[in-house]
Amino acid sequence: MASTKNVELNKSQNVELELPCIKCSGKTTHKVLVSVDVRGEETKGDWSLQWCDDYQIVECGGCKSKSFRNVSSNSEDYYPISDTEYEYAELELLYPSRIEGRKTLQNEEHYLPVTVRGIYKETIGALNNNSPVLAGIGLRH
Ligand SMILES: [Zn+2]
Repeated sequence: MASTKNVELNKSQNVELELPCIKCSGKTTHKVLVSVDVRGEETKGDWSLQWCDDYQIVECGGCKSKSFRNVSSNSEDYYPISDTEYEYAELELLYPSRIEGRKTLQNEEHYLPVTVRGIYKETIGALNNNSPVLAGIGLRH
């Protein structure tokens, strides 16, 4: 098995992306401040696999919050978009993780009964940390 790896710095610097913000509601334009793009290939006989792993520090154009984005894909993981065209499946991870359009209750939550407030806070925490099973349990209460 042979493998190659190539790292490129700041190739996508200043590129603008529409991403959900940690603080702002909904999607906002984020600018890439720093990027590290890693490209690799594994080969064994006539079999080969290419993969990409992009790491970016992004900044929200509205509130200037900085966060981290990782997008990865590989040549084995694709799906058809028409009879003749395919698109690679990309896995996008954002840190801290966030759920678009969800804001916490802030002041309003003080009006909730203590038990409900506790479940509410834990459920929001589970949703924002990509823990769908825990979030589902919280929502059923
Ligand atoms: Zn923002």
